[in-house]
Amino acid sequence: MTIRTRFAPSPTGLLHIGGARTALFNFLFARHHGGQFLLRIEDTDRARSTEAAIAVILEGLAWLGLDPDEPPLFQSTRAARHAEVANALLAAGHAYRCYASALELREMREQALKEGRPPRYDGRWRDRDPAEAPPGIAPAIRLKAPREGETVIEDLVQGPVRVANAELDDMIILRSDGTPTYLHAVVVDDHDMAITHVIRGDDHLTNTFRQAQIYQAMGWERPRFAHIPLIHGADGAKLSKRHGAVSVLEFREQGFLPEALCNYLLRLGWGHGDAEIVSRADAIRLFDLDGVGRGAARMDYAKLTHLNAVWLRAADDARLTAEVMARLAGVPGLRLDDVARARILALMPPLKERARTLVELADSAAFLAREPPLPLSEKARALLDPAARALLRDLAAVLAETAFTPDALAAALRAFAEARGKKLGEVAQPLRAALTGATTSPPIDATLAVLGRAAALARIAAILAAPDATSPDAT
Ligand code: GLU
Repeated sequence: MTIRTRFAPSPTGLLHIGGARTALFNFLFARHHGGQFLLRIEDTDRARSTEAAIAVILEGLAWLGLDPDEPPLFQSTRAARHAEVANALLAAGHAYRCYASALELREMREQALKEGRPPRYDGRWRDRDPAEAPPGIAPAIRLKAPREGETVIEDLVQGPVRVANAELDDMIILRSDGTPTYLHAVVVDDHDMAITHVIRGDDHLTNTFRQAQIYQAMGWERPRFAHIPLIHGADGAKLSKRHGAVSVLEFREQGFLPEALCNYLLRLGWGHGDAEIVSRADAIRLFDLDGVGRGAARMDYAKLTHLNAVWLRAADDARLTAEVMARLAGVPGLRLDDVARARILALMPPLKERARTLVELADSAAFLAREPPLPLSEKARALLDPAARALLRDLAAVLAETAFTPDALAAALRAFAEARGKKLGEVAQPLRAALTGATTSPPIDATLAVLGRAAALARIAAILAAPDATSPDAT
């Protein structure tokens, strides 16, 4: 048997990271077992489904590297098949036409609530002769659900879960307007797509009992089910916008790497020993459903940020350079030419050591794409007092004579500091402020070497030419 899983989002908004984790688990499970991972867009609710939401799902999945093995299936294209199966159930006596009016249904509900019973359809058309059908009313089709016994799901995460059939009423499978209900459409599609394992959020668990009844009525083999706990916020409530970012594309925007987000989502609710950093290849090798926990997972943004820093350090410098260039594209005052690109690439190893997100990385690299005079941070401005300027003037003379290699520059700076009885930092800090406009940067010798002599001296000259920004009347 070929394992086939699917991710079946309803395109009514963003791609929530809970959905992304469901997609990831389905993807990993299929890959681990040499099977296929499919995507079904559940767009039957035409009023709420939008093209934009579909695009967001496809974009998010592509960014996460969770591409399906077949073109996505759009549930809305399958209405005729859904109706066909409903009619087959009708013909086989497993379903019936229900002519109850909206008013009757409302009364039924209100009566049940008054008597403290769960609001259920009372089965009034279940055994009634259709000849009694009132004229002019289009019927809905309801499943003739078993009334005795129980429905048991051997859930691969939750274990056996059961419900007495008497608890479930005869659900509508085809509405009076001929459209399928969600529960029915999912069963027909999962069957036709030959899905072997349905891995989804545990908010769908109660749906599964009803879906199991449709499988049974059709005589179809049920897929195996695995209901995974939802993601909660730190306060234990279901994760929502008020906890922080929840949309996959928002995490991308905030500078997270897809491999870091996948690693984090994997570890959220799945474990393999103590392994924290798990690559895609290892995840495929190790993932199985028995490692999925039953308790709700709690989103920890700090932990995600930590993982992101780890993945940033491991990421390819050319790729990070392209990311940084793209992020800097909207920043005014930058010259994003080949010179800037080469500088950013050359300095990427120390830059990526210091950043936790691509946003921080781009911020810390922006100085490499500037022309003097550079904007100064407040701390850098305060540092560049008259004494520091005098020091920079002398230092510029030394730099004009020094070979621009990190080693030669480091030696020259050490010698310069020593000759003045200063610590290296006392020389490096004003120099750093002049070269970068900030008080933190990669090592000063590497920064100097990457900028090159002409650019470094031009930056120092611009500081010396500018009015003393530390004097009280400077603005
Ligand atoms: N379309 C459903 C949702 O977005 C998922 C259905 C399923 O996985 O069976 O919640």
